[in-house]
Amino acid sequence: MKELFFRFAAWFNLFPCPLCRTGDGGGRNRICPECRKEFRVFEEPFCPGCGGTLDGLMAVCGKCLAEEKRPWVGARTLFEYRGAARRMLHEFKFGGRPELARPLGELAAEALQGAKFSPELVVPVPLHPLRLYGRGYNQAGLFAEVAARTLHAKYCDALSRAKRTRKQSSLNKEARRRNPAGAFRVRTPEAIRGKRILLVDDVFTTGATLAAAAKTLLAAGSGPVFILTAARTPAYRR
Ligand SMILES: [Zn+2]
Ligand SMILES: [Zn+2]
Repeated sequence: MKELFFRFAAWFNLFPCPLCRTGDGGGRNRICPECRKEFRVFEEPFCPGCGGTLDGLMAVCGKCLAEEKRPWVGARTLFEYRGAARRMLHEFKFGGRPELARPLGELAAEALQGAKFSPELVVPVPLHPLRLYGRGYNQAGLFAEVAARTLHAKYCDALSRAKRTRKQSSLNKEARRRNPAGAFRVRTPEAIRGKRILLVDDVFTTGATLAAAAKTLLAAGSGPVFILTAARTPAYRR
């Protein structure tokens, strides 16, 4: 019955591509093939630090070499943060278009297929309450919810912000690394104890925010943490 509905919807393109709003959405708001071509996706082998492509002979990519050791066991990211991907996430984040969460969730499930990590819980990096108030929803939370659904794992809003951190985009690299320390606390320690966790955020910049969140989970007794982000910024310019 559901399949029939999707076929019907696809025939009339009732739910077009959410990005160009006209392309073939497969009856369920999928990203159309034309828009997908614009995304720059990372290819294997993946860097366990950020999910980008391993660009050298080291165990992590050049971007991650500049950072301290990551507390997670592995990482995936959907695409490079530029072009169509950047537009999409920007709309998702600031344009009041939470419906973009669905295609993002489907891409997330695809990205994790070869990762050999089956999460029990999917935990979003929380937004500060003040910013949540301004925006109405946490885009990492929505992304995490659809990812959880497509991965058959449990969504768990386990973290909260302990104090206000400044907007990441207004800080330089050094300040970004310092800024998130002590920023999180675990609201539900009993729910995460010993559990394999997929920690989710929208954009991977330096990884410092994710590292602070992951360390907080591990310190509270969680099992291994794997990270998933919608997009990773390009490698640092040297
Ligand atoms: Zn499109
Ligand atoms: Zn990396």
